[in-house]
Amino acid sequence: MNEFKHFINGEYVASRSSKTFENRCPVDNSLIGRVHEAGRDEVDAAVRAARAALTGPWGRLTQAQRIALLNKVAERINARFDEFLEAECRDTGKPHKIASYIDIPRGAANFTAFSETLANHSTEGFRLDTPDGKGALNIGHRTPKGVIAVISPWNLPLLLMTWKVGPALACGNTVVVKPSEETPATTTLLGEVMNECGVPPGVFNVVHGFGPDSAGEFLTRHPLVDAITFTGETRTGEAIMKAASVGLRNISLECGGKNPGIVFADCDIEKAVEGTMRSAFVNCGQVCLGTERVYVERSIFDRFLARMKEEVAKLKLGRPEDPEANFGPLVSQAHRDKVLSYYRLAEQEGATVEIGGGIPDMGPELNGGAWIEPTIWTGLADDARVIREEIFGPCCHLRPFDSEEEVVALANDTHYGLAAAIWTENSSRAVRVAEQMEAGIVWVNSWFLRDLRTAFGGAKQSGIGREGGVHGLEFYTELKNICIKL
Ligand code: NAD
Repeated sequence: MNEFKHFINGEYVASRSSKTFENRCPVDNSLIGRVHEAGRDEVDAAVRAARAALTGPWGRLTQAQRIALLNKVAERINARFDEFLEAECRDTGKPHKIASYIDIPRGAANFTAFSETLANHSTEGFRLDTPDGKGALNIGHRTPKGVIAVISPWNLPLLLMTWKVGPALACGNTVVVKPSEETPATTTLLGEVMNECGVPPGVFNVVHGFGPDSAGEFLTRHPLVDAITFTGETRTGEAIMKAASVGLRNISLECGGKNPGIVFADCDIEKAVEGTMRSAFVNCGQVCLGTERVYVERSIFDRFLARMKEEVAKLKLGRPEDPEANFGPLVSQAHRDKVLSYYRLAEQEGATVEIGGGIPDMGPELNGGAWIEPTIWTGLADDARVIREEIFGPCCHLRPFDSEEEVVALANDTHYGLAAAIWTENSSRAVRVAEQMEAGIVWVNSWFLRDLRTAFGGAKQSGIGREGGVHGLEFYTELKNICIKL
């Protein structure tokens, strides 16, 4: 049986309290192993190790040396690709077919993409005129922010954790990561990779546990943490913001969404069906950028709905290692209870269940897993809770619309503002509508097409700040102005 320990100062350590919790596989509810739960002592040790590492050998590396080391980390993840894949798919239940082209390669690429950004980033400089005529020179100089707490979710565990650890380390910080309690494996494995690559002890630390009154809260409240970067639910983001307010620590919050897809009659309908299918159902609908509200122009509504139903019926549920499977279970029984409560609520709120709506019969070996049917609804009112709240499952609601003005208002009628997808072959309309979306990311005729140099983050209650490319530098470094009188 696996034992997931903390990774502190370059070593795997057990909790002093010996407190552990179970890690179960959502495919069949089998026990993967036990996870050590960090108390205040382990969190304190991890933060102090990270603090000390700032002024150790790590702090003395040149930028080029740091980048070379992080490139090595990416290479090593790729060299141990199958182990990362196996660990990720066991924790999440997601198909190998998907994780092998999204989660693991992107998990590795996050260490190289930001290194390149940093290596090519210029600094700002201003020449100032002074009364004596000699002038002064202002130079922007970036230094690491210090110890960064990284709090990550379970839906894309390796990818979303390295999305923050990559730039944090590239900028010379040290990190303490608290992965989701549901998915401890790949973050734990990354500790081995850090040691194999010669990353100095204390630079990358991992503590396991839950949020409130556990590792997450202890870490975000720790006074020696300089900044906190978080991905997860909006409500958790609020708690973290409160914790960060003590000592005025900087935060970056990537939170929930209730993202619209807008399908105009002048779209390429097959492209729109393919993209909307992915955006609603990939990763069993557990993607923050996923589309849960689909607005379709009335003249093609019936045709679009029929094509979506045909494609949903073709989804192949199966074990991660099944080469045909493209649809896995939800991450846990608890999350399935939540999603199912929305399936019931949709019916109470008057939805027509077009397809799905329940639990599939997966046979005796898998029925203990967190399987759920991909589901499409129609007929809900715009103020239904199912339309307004993030479900984070494989489901979407389709609603017809008649005008551009109407659909822009409908799409923006939400507290969230993470992403939107627009399907049209009319490029003027695409730009016009995209500019009106109250969202951090808008895709036209695509979805989840990511360029790691671009800004990533949410508007409204979907987050605070932007990461990605040079935007990450704003969060992960302290910009100091040096003024030199000539
Ligand atoms: P969550 O907020 O429940 O948990 C995320 C992490 O926060 C976990 O590690 C958890 O242990 C920790 N945590 C919980 N309470 C805490 C507290 N009080 N203090 C410190 N840490 C605490 O989210 P989840 O269920 O793991 O993930 C799903 C959510 O994440 C969805 O809302 C989804 O939209 C969002 N998400 C957003 C993005 C994005 O980029 N915007 C990406 C992926 C997921």
